[in-house]
Amino acid sequence: MPFQALGLAPALAQAATDLGFSRPTPIQEAALPAALSGADVLATAQTGSGKTAAYVLPLLQRLLPQIGQAPRRVRALVLVPTRELAAQVGEVVRSMAQHLPGTARTAVVFGGVSINPQMLALRGGADVVVATPGRLLDLVAHNALKLGSVELLVLDEADRLLDLGFAEELQRVLALLPAARQNLFFSATFPPAVQELAGQLLHAPVRIDVPAAPVEEAVILQQAFLVDSTRRTQLLRQLIKTQGWQRVLVFVATQYAAERVASKLHQGDLFATSFHGGLSQGARKQALEEFKEKRWDVVVTTDLAARGIDISQLPVVVNYDLPRSAVDYVHRIGRTGRAGASGLAVSFVTPASMAHWRLIEKRQGLSLPLEVVPGLEPTEEAPVSEPGGGIKGKRPSKKDKLRAAASSPPADPQQP
Ligand code: AMP
Repeated sequence: MPFQALGLAPALAQAATDLGFSRPTPIQEAALPAALSGADVLATAQTGSGKTAAYVLPLLQRLLPQIGQAPRRVRALVLVPTRELAAQVGEVVRSMAQHLPGTARTAVVFGGVSINPQMLALRGGADVVVATPGRLLDLVAHNALKLGSVELLVLDEADRLLDLGFAEELQRVLALLPAARQNLFFSATFPPAVQELAGQLLHAPVRIDVPAAPVEEAVILQQAFLVDSTRRTQLLRQLIKTQGWQRVLVFVATQYAAERVASKLHQGDLFATSFHGGLSQGARKQALEEFKEKRWDVVVTTDLAARGIDISQLPVVVNYDLPRSAVDYVHRIGRTGRAGASGLAVSFVTPASMAHWRLIEKRQGLSLPLEVVPGLEPTEEAPVSEPGGGIKGKRPSKKDKLRAAASSPPADPQQP
């Protein structure tokens, strides 16, 4: 079905075509008519499904009639959990808005960088604001913007917003918005806290459940290797060389591990760098841009890069440390095989993480053969389980317990 048949204005249908979208993705096909009708939308949406365009197109269509009219007021607000997602959504809004007859001004604001340039950028007003909640409130407090004219609110990755502890800020932002507005609510998962927020926010929403993307075995080939924890870097290096992998995203459990693994790979003649929340905003932006430009062979990251960020057509994702939950597994491997391109997701399973891997497999309905590379046969012993289900000598942290309570399987006992 062409975009125009979903009720999109010709300029916006053209914008989608110009971005190379030949036909709507399932989430766009479901969300566009609902959102364009002015209804609230509650959508299950994974990164990689095309969810951003599913809300940006109707958002711009809503602005169309009065675009660029003075005085410029913030009429659409998109709240996102991370700086990277904010920047990415801002780019999508700007590239689609280029096709409109008037000029829609888009401001992208997020924390972790100086507030002054953002205040300056807001001086002439903005039609669309894409923001992380904390910085948005700071800007309101500085009188740099007002939210009293918002007609359309988008919450993207609502589950992540709550996971990252934005619940209180969200409530404060909501209190600043007019009650009569349209709400588009996107979340990858719907734990009770997200359902409660959706219940509070939405009025008779159109519910959209597009089958969870993108774990399609035909698109993402999944593999698991059994290896000693101490020889994972060696295995990784070997696979990169023998398989000719290029542009590999490697997931580890901690910022420290990201630094350590990246530096070991670098010493072994690979262009490897780290990407995690402990780096400055500038360093994160630079690493991401350089990776997109194919200047790095390997980026070693924490779950920070598992969601939201669109690095299209990433060929290989490696779980050097296993993810904590099956949901995180889906997000991590969703970094590859994007928008129909095929990809490879490889997991390293150590004797100590075997039980956890089995849980992930069970939740995913997977049963992968555990491959062993000759010369790297595992020799480590699996740790002895305590009666409580934990692993001897590794007590779960408070954060682990919270995460486990929030629907994950037991925390990964493995340490880098
Ligand atoms: P998202 O889920 O919004 O992060 O989008 C994932 C990727 O799919 C991005 O690279 C988009 O540019 C791309 N995309 C979105 N909609 C379409 C479409 N209709 N056809 C082809 N690619 C698309």
